[in-house]
Amino acid sequence: MNAIPLPNPHDPLTAPHWQAARKEQIAMQRCPACGYVRWPAANSCPECLTEGGEWTALSGRGSIWSFAVYEKPLDPAFAELCPYAVALIRLDEGPIIYARMLDPPDRLACEARVVAVHEHVTDAVSLARFKLESANAD
Ligand SMILES: [Zn+2]
Repeated sequence: MNAIPLPNPHDPLTAPHWQAARKEQIAMQRCPACGYVRWPAANSCPECLTEGGEWTALSGRGSIWSFAVYEKPLDPAFAELCPYAVALIRLDEGPIIYARMLDPPDRLACEARVVAVHEHVTDAVSLARFKLESANAD
């Protein structure tokens, strides 16, 4: 199996996010002036243009805003996962992120409640996947 493409966890702009992921948390920058929580990471707030941001651990919970099902992989590294879904997830704190869903695509629905589960892909990179909250009993 080919290696999946991975982010650079040492990028100075995003390193705190990846360090939190190692601890199975989703961390994003909260604007010190207006409180807006942003993703992707940036040097200033897109809402009020204040520079800087306080890295904050989020709840790891949210709901599916939309999702797409991959019947065929865009990258051969994902071939064994097909079919799988990638969802846009609106976190409870506001930001929308995309992540692979762990549930079978036919169980997904927009607005379904989800929770993050971190996969430790390498010694340096952990990625947030999401599963349905209702799947906890499986
Ligand atoms: Zn702001």
